Amino acid sequence: KLQDQLMELRGNVRVFARARPLNKKESVVSSKSALVFPAVDEPASMFDAPSDPGMLKLVVPPKKAVNAKLASEGQARTHCFDFDMAFAGSMGQEEVWSETEPFIASSLYHGRNVCVFAYGQTGSGKTYTMEYLSARTFDFIFGALEEQSVAGYEKAGKPALEEQSQDEDDEDVLVEPTPVRARKATPAFEVYVSMLEIYNESIHDLLVDQPSEEEKKKSANSWDEKPKASEIGNALDVKLVEGLGWSVPGLTERRIGEIDEVEDMFATAKRNRSTACTNLNSHSSRSHMVMCVRLVGEGGQRRLNLVDLAGSERVGKSGVKGAELKEAQSINKSLSALGDVISGLRSKKTHVPYRNSKLTMLLQDSLGGQSKVLMFAHVSPGVDSVHESLSTLQFASRAR
Ligand code: ADP
Ligand code: MG
Repeated sequence: KLQDQLMELRGNVRVFARARPLNKKESVVSSKSALVFPAVDEPASMFDAPSDPGMLKLVVPPKKAVNAKLASEGQARTHCFDFDMAFAGSMGQEEVWSETEPFIASSLYHGRNVCVFAYGQTGSGKTYTMEYLSARTFDFIFGALEEQSVAGYEKAGKPALEEQSQDEDDEDVLVEPTPVRARKATPAFEVYVSMLEIYNESIHDLLVDQPSEEEKKKSANSWDEKPKASEIGNALDVKLVEGLGWSVPGLTERRIGEIDEVEDMFATAKRNRSTACTNLNSHSSRSHMVMCVRLVGEGGQRRLNLVDLAGSERVGKSGVKGAELKEAQSINKSLSALGDVISGLRSKKTHVPYRNSKLTMLLQDSLGGQSKVLMFAHVSPGVDSVHESLSTLQFASRAR
């Protein structure tokens, strides 16, 4: 209860920063991380607010020092940040989840919509975090769902244990009561999931098998006319639909009856992501991936959106042309629209500009109103990433 109240008092937007460990390539440039976390790396006394778990420091070496593979802290500029949580590279997935679960759990229990983002340059750990978080979130949802359903069943006047002894093998009758999670009962709410990606401001369904490059060519040749853009790779749009709010007409939504079906769904999405393009790695860093979970129960519905954003790195301004320029412009447009929306929510502005990108339109229902928003600001620890890291941490600070 008290924890819930504190959660409410802290408002609707949360920002967590997370660094990954130095990789081999980065260690060659400097064995020292450009990021300093008070709780892990040094005595708390270096900071005004000792041992605050949300603080971190970015050390930007003088320009020449980077080139000379020398990060001398003496002349370096230090930027201090204060987030709701800051996870050092040494902190594992479960540590991150243990800080995230109460936020998701309490928000959903209170009937709120929830939106979780991962923001940061390519290679900083967005997918690493979001994949783990998605898996744990489904564990949580199905765990909670089974607990609720048994509670509901018992309230209806039929002891769950008695029912079970009729249904199942005799050995259950004599042994200890089965733990709540292992019992079967009618779910208290239904779980629906869609997965999509936004690339160049168009939306692609990841649960529908995409035509491969070859199939696309074939179908283009078999007709006199060229296929319309909307027929290539199944491009969809986000629209305001009466009674539904912002939604994507035609998008596949799968009902997930049990946790085993989740893995299947992830596999389908991954496959469709890779057939839709020739270079998966660069493509996945240039598109936003969104998983929409809809929980429908007696008390109405709530939404949970998990978003792995496109890489936030700035593409060099000069010399970029054609397709690459278009990609960069779409990403800049949607990320800055997202920044504007979050800072608008944070400062409780009356007009929040959702309509500036497909991403913010799509997520409107899980960003505004009473929704809860959590942003992970991902940073690479390498000295050669300091400028991208600075821009990520500044973006995240604006939200906070
Ligand atoms: P992004 O999605 O931001 O491009 P990835 O999630 O693909 O970045 O991470 C880049 C690489 O770093 C991957 O090989 C990933 O496994 C690794 N990595 C990311 N975060 C961590 C972490 N916290 N601990 C260990 N390895 C990590
Ligand atoms: Mg990624």
